[in-house]
Amino acid sequence: MIYLDNAATSPIDEEVLDAMLPYLKEEYGNPSSKYYYKAVNAKKAVEDAREKVARLIGADSEEIIFTAGATESSNLIIKGFLDYSKYYCDGKNHVITSNAEHKSTLNVCKYLNGEIYSNKDATIALFSANKSVDRGYCASFIEVDENGIVSCDKLEEAITDKTALASFIFVNNEIGAVNNIGLLAATAHKHNVLLHADATQAVGKFPINVHELDVDFLSASAHKLYGPKGIGCAYIKADKYGLPPITALLHGGEQESGIRAGTLAVHNIVGFGKAAEIAIRDMETNRKRIAELDDYLINNISGIRDIKIVISDNFRANGIISLLIDRNDFNNERFIRRISDDVAISTGSACSLGEPSHVISAIGAGKDVNKIIRVSLNKYTLKEDIDLFISYLTE
Ligand code: PMP
Repeated sequence: MIYLDNAATSPIDEEVLDAMLPYLKEEYGNPSSKYYYKAVNAKKAVEDAREKVARLIGADSEEIIFTAGATESSNLIIKGFLDYSKYYCDGKNHVITSNAEHKSTLNVCKYLNGEIYSNKDATIALFSANKSVDRGYCASFIEVDENGIVSCDKLEEAITDKTALASFIFVNNEIGAVNNIGLLAATAHKHNVLLHADATQAVGKFPINVHELDVDFLSASAHKLYGPKGIGCAYIKADKYGLPPITALLHGGEQESGIRAGTLAVHNIVGFGKAAEIAIRDMETNRKRIAELDDYLINNISGIRDIKIVISDNFRANGIISLLIDRNDFNNERFIRRISDDVAISTGSACSLGEPSHVISAIGAGKDVNKIIRVSLNKYTLKEDIDLFISYLTE
């Protein structure tokens, strides 16, 4: 099967798997244990991986907190920073995000806003009958433009004297839209507001430096850069006194600077570190390769009637291509199912299955939601893979 759904997850790199295996076999020590060599080795492996992940985004090791993935990182950062601000700092309790975020930001903000308690809209409607509660926080959802981009003007308009944090997606997982995170951070900082970037689809794909971007927080997952699932990181900007205090999401042991309790998944952390090391090593080669494949796909579909790219290429990251098949008889779910033995693609986010895409609605294309498919490439994709996909499209 040809795999063109890499925005959902990427295959694990063989080198990553090889690096992980010893930590599932003989090196099974708990890095928080003391003195004996298995514990010391595990701790060393974790710190080595932390350095590699930090290097990938231009951070210092102490600024990396390992989590179970970007969903957890964004929960930790948004809930943790808002809670700390409101109850232990200056009383600010407002977060700003956009209406085209991944659900791991959108639903965290809805939760803080008192709109939801679970993640399933159906459950919410059934049990709460649109009941909203006052959790002591509030959230604003600013609208993106037709390319999925957040404007600095809209951010500025939404900021109040209660705003603590703004949180925006770097590269959109459904349509590939790239926000100008550096400019959004500068805008937020003008008003004493901190910025969190959900960089899950960006980290490892192109050079990122948290200091140059001047972001305060960042989330990422290893499985989007050929690493294992169930591991990610929260970058938290340190100052000269160390990490700023934020409220923990998981309370328990003192692992990860007391911010994230629980025994560390050493094998996964080692895998993330290896994936980061490879991403740095092969960054330019992979970037060029995916840009060429992206061009190849776009050039080859440009001749096919009734197909267009959902957002302008000027705002799109290479490798995530959302296509509108504007034919009366086309239904995306049926098409994807029909080709699923040979080609894996998707209608959009794997995290929003079963409901129309909020991202497509956010860019004003809601009426076409059943005609949009997402193709996402990886470093192993071949031109022949794209040819096969296109042959189904033309058919
Ligand atoms: N943010 C974005 C932009 C994503 O694409 C994803 C994964 N689809 C996530 C957050 C959540 O990542 P994870 O499922 O690994 O927690």
